[in-house]
Amino acid sequence: KMSSLEPPEDHRICVCVRKRPLNERETIMKDLDIITIPSHNVVMVHESKQKVDLTRYLENQTFCFDHAFDDTASNELVYQFTARPLVESIFRKGMATCFAYGQTGSGKTHTMGGAFTGKAQDCSKGIYALVAQDVFLLLRSPAYEKLELKVYGTFFEIYGGKVYDLLNWKKKLQVLEDGNQQVQVVGLQEQEVSRVEEVLNLVELGNGCRTSGQTSVNAHSSRSHAVFQLILKSEGKLHGKFSLVDLAGNERGADTAKANRKRQLEGAEINKSLLALKECIRALGKNKSHTPFRASKLTQVLRDSFIGQNSSTCMIATISPGMTSCENTLNTLRYANRVK
Ligand code: ADP
Ligand code: MG
Repeated sequence: KMSSLEPPEDHRICVCVRKRPLNERETIMKDLDIITIPSHNVVMVHESKQKVDLTRYLENQTFCFDHAFDDTASNELVYQFTARPLVESIFRKGMATCFAYGQTGSGKTHTMGGAFTGKAQDCSKGIYALVAQDVFLLLRSPAYEKLELKVYGTFFEIYGGKVYDLLNWKKKLQVLEDGNQQVQVVGLQEQEVSRVEEVLNLVELGNGCRTSGQTSVNAHSSRSHAVFQLILKSEGKLHGKFSLVDLAGNERGADTAKANRKRQLEGAEINKSLLALKECIRALGKNKSHTPFRASKLTQVLRDSFIGQNSSTCMIATISPGMTSCENTLNTLRYANRVK
């Protein structure tokens, strides 16, 4: 259409879906795999429905994304199509953000932090590490070495609308906004890093902090957002930033009715922040005045990564394959569909 006055297509948002394999428990339960990825960007959900006469039939729903990864995809492959294309932008004074969004148990932490082998997490295979690897490669490349940039890591958690420093024994931190709406997490540890190994140490330190005092790893981590950042500085001033966010589980908990007050409040807080996030991503680069950054701590803290002409975002929506997760999976796919 030659007459189109529409702005050029916005390439600053990339939305992908990743399906994980059926796990042992689901296999034993004979849960059905209802997700197919018929091509590199299509996800189909084969939902079993009941007719009035109680016979069952399959209803298919199809979704399109920038990329769709089936259960054979490695973290490296997912990385190549999601965070990788954004890495160089932070050397050009950009702000990049990558979110893992999905139901608890769908693979967010596996994708961002690395695979669990036995009891430990191999964080050298997660997107945190893969981004770090490329950051250090670019830092030393002829194109950017003259900038003499320094790299700093931060790792914090947002739980119940409060910020906790994962690199400083979960110290509770205040978030301040100055007159120019510059947001600052006061006292957040910024650790200088110069090698991938040092980044992995930070990730391990933070992960250790994240789970301390908790009975079950996922019980706690599923209710908090974890934000890992690599910050580039030039002569002490911010040059670019990559934020990698392992979001709280988006499930609305079928058991909220019987859940206690604390769980309900947690759920409401998570809901609020994920809704605000959706609005902020949708407004990305569009310079809308009513973007609800302040509606949640998560979006407030990430504010500087949403505004500005040099911000880019990718979302990896992780989904479980099983029939028993159908409702949550559809919710995830609908949300991902809305932000693209
Ligand atoms: P979440 O962080 O979304 O709650 P996890 O990343 O902890 O979920 O994943 C739950 C379980 O499923 C973990 O044991 C993890 O190792 C496994 N898992 C997740 N994604 C994959 C994948 N793509 N391939 C293999 N195992 C996976
Ligand atoms: Mg997790």
